[in-house]
Amino acid sequence: MPPAVSPPPLSSLKIYFRLLRYLRPFIGLFVISLLGYVVFASAQPMMAVILKYFVDGLTAPVSATHYEFPLIGQIELMYSVPLLLILSVAWQGLGSFFGNYYLSRVTFGLIHDLRRALFDSLLRLPNRYFDQNNSGHLISRITYNVTMVTGAATDAIKILIREGLSVIFLFGYLLWMNWKLTLVIVGVLPIIALMVKHASRRFRKQAQKIQAAMGDVTHVASETIQGYRVVRSFGGEDYESARFRKASEENTAKQLRMAKTSSTFTPALQLVTFSSMSVILFLVLLLRGDASIGDLVAYISAASMLPKPIRQLSEISSTIQRGLAGAESIFAQLDEPPENDSGAIERERIAGRLEVRDLSFTYPGGGEPVLRDIHFTVEPGQMVALVGRSGSGKSTLANLIPRFYQHRTGQILLDGVAIEDYTLRNLRRHNALVTQQVSLFNDTIANNIAYGDLAHLPRERIETAARAAFAAEFIERLPQGYDTLIGENGVLLSGGQRQRLAIARAILKDAPLLILDEATSALDSESERHIQAALESAATNRTTLVIAHRLSTIEKADLILVMEQGRIVERGSHAQLLAQNGPYAHLHAMQFSEADAGGTAADAASGALSEQRRMDDLQYAPPQPDHPV
Ligand code: ATP
Ligand code: MG
Repeated sequence: MPPAVSPPPLSSLKIYFRLLRYLRPFIGLFVISLLGYVVFASAQPMMAVILKYFVDGLTAPVSATHYEFPLIGQIELMYSVPLLLILSVAWQGLGSFFGNYYLSRVTFGLIHDLRRALFDSLLRLPNRYFDQNNSGHLISRITYNVTMVTGAATDAIKILIREGLSVIFLFGYLLWMNWKLTLVIVGVLPIIALMVKHASRRFRKQAQKIQAAMGDVTHVASETIQGYRVVRSFGGEDYESARFRKASEENTAKQLRMAKTSSTFTPALQLVTFSSMSVILFLVLLLRGDASIGDLVAYISAASMLPKPIRQLSEISSTIQRGLAGAESIFAQLDEPPENDSGAIERERIAGRLEVRDLSFTYPGGGEPVLRDIHFTVEPGQMVALVGRSGSGKSTLANLIPRFYQHRTGQILLDGVAIEDYTLRNLRRHNALVTQQVSLFNDTIANNIAYGDLAHLPRERIETAARAAFAAEFIERLPQGYDTLIGENGVLLSGGQRQRLAIARAILKDAPLLILDEATSALDSESERHIQAALESAATNRTTLVIAHRLSTIEKADLILVMEQGRIVERGSHAQLLAQNGPYAHLHAMQFSEADAGGTAADAASGALSEQRRMDDLQYAPPQPDHPV
């Protein structure tokens, strides 16, 4: 899978500022939380002060020492020291509550916003993006990367503010107590800064690898979960198990490498800080001068409170780097250009005239053209059928009409207007597409038929559509009828039932242009006849493009296009094509003899088998000499 074309990597600072922009709606909460942390940090030097009074109290006669409380006045140290302790802890606790709780509100709000932005971008990204990025990575970006990012945006800020302020308050106190001594401590800071800078570059690289590895884990797991039947019936257990082990091992190894970096980094930093502490102890003993014992104890205890916040400050660089790596991938997705939607025309209803002129198409990413020089016209109400071997480009052509991919050569006109000139939403309202892979949602039958724009339609219309698609008979036999839940992607339904639901959905949409991609292939002969009848009734008032592997389905089509390697090699009505005795006649003869040899073609039991043979015939039809088209 080729890597996604992504915009050039942003610089750390740019990413960070962009991330901070997401904090803007939470600025009020954020300020409350910051005030909380200011309160918390201001309590730090109080401990040292209390210790000073305690030691002073120990070394002087009890009644001789007092503490001057504001408003209350003087209180003996015996009472005031415990009181001060409780007050300062309560003060700290208050700050801690406001800081943590309001920051959590910011964090979770931010997670919510980022997740939604990512999810909404998925709704706008072009098909190409889904072809080029695997779903595991897209999903883990929403579930995992987002939480990493908020680590950078909020946890890092929390530590920065809380511990940063603690350091400042403690430093202020130390400077006030003994500025000469304190300046020695400042001398150590550049060493710490250098270490932090070195480590942070490594953290970010490792964090990027971890996120990619996390995506691999999700990817392998979800593939196995979705394809569990294939895994079991083809004995893929060992392969999948090995594949998953490899992905998980890689993830573990990368996490460990990151842990190793941070765990060597932290003790190394501690060594530096405590070395400086011992220098301080030495200097305090050397230069104590006429300071009281209480002063010295307070000084040392305040100084010894410094390493903890400094260490935490140093660790935020790993949090930030991890978050920046996450943010980078998130912003890359958000910056992906959405589906091109520059058209302005909106029509309430179109007649359904489809005209394709000199259309050629190559899938993005290069390679051979999949469609070449396609041209045909379908008048409103007509039915055109596409037949041809597997891989000849039929589904591709069908996908171009609702603009799931953008063609560059030639034109597709709907009611005489190029499809690019409609707004995407309006264009897609005019056509109903039943794809080869039916997508159903884990919801009730009724909600699956009336999906999206159709959700408001009354129950009677849903039932009418289901009857028209010959789905009503099986739906009514289900325990809860239209309210039966059908499981993830409709696992509780058979292939033919799923297809009939998809057809019912398309019929309910009542669009002027109906595109059916091989919708009848998974049906037994009897249902096929039903569907055929349903199609005929559904096709009467609208333009229909049918892609069929069974030629019997399309005998009544106004125009049959025979495709081979992206070209239309033959065109005409059923009768004309038979008379021409070209590729179509050949295919028809093969299916006809198949039906003959298989006994009664309507025999439901042999339906699946003969279906398979018919498809094979189409696939292995010998190349025909070029026929005039
Ligand atoms: P079938 O009868 O088996 O459904 P088809 O006629 O519908 O076949 P298409 O699905 O249109 O065939 O595929 C035509 C060619 O385009 C194939 O060679 C296929 O490999 C290629 N192709 C299909 N989808 C993509 C895609 N998303 N990206 C790149 N190439 C693609
Ligand atoms: Mg196809």
